[in-house]
Amino acid sequence: MSEATKSPDDSSSNHDETWFRQRLEARRAELIAISAQEDRSTIELDQTRVGRLSRMDAMQGHEMHLESKRRVKIDLARIASALQRLDDGEFGECLDCGENIAPGRLEIDPAAALCVACAEVRENR
Ligand SMILES: [Zn+2]
Repeated sequence: MSEATKSPDDSSSNHDETWFRQRLEARRAELIAISAQEDRSTIELDQTRVGRLSRMDAMQGHEMHLESKRRVKIDLARIASALQRLDDGEFGECLDCGENIAPGRLEIDPAAALCVACAEVRENR
């Protein structure tokens, strides 16, 4: 599906900003679709299974739903700020130290805001 987005000079692994923007926007659309779908399935679940679920199950399901909603929200915020950095011409720079983030890291996660070293420091905090 992404074959059409290949740039003519694909000799290096350095993708241009258009490529990252497309990736980010595709991911954002995906997340919005996921959260819309989850909202629908929760309502269905409530309507069809009410009274059959034990209170514990219902609470657990609710917790899981909240957790996944929270993750989608965080991801959407990360993507929004990455798109903002693209607009500002700061994309690919680490938010903490200002060094360039490794291209391979951005390829895996275009929304990455920190270089590997700074991400590790934050995780260990
Ligand atoms: Zn850094």
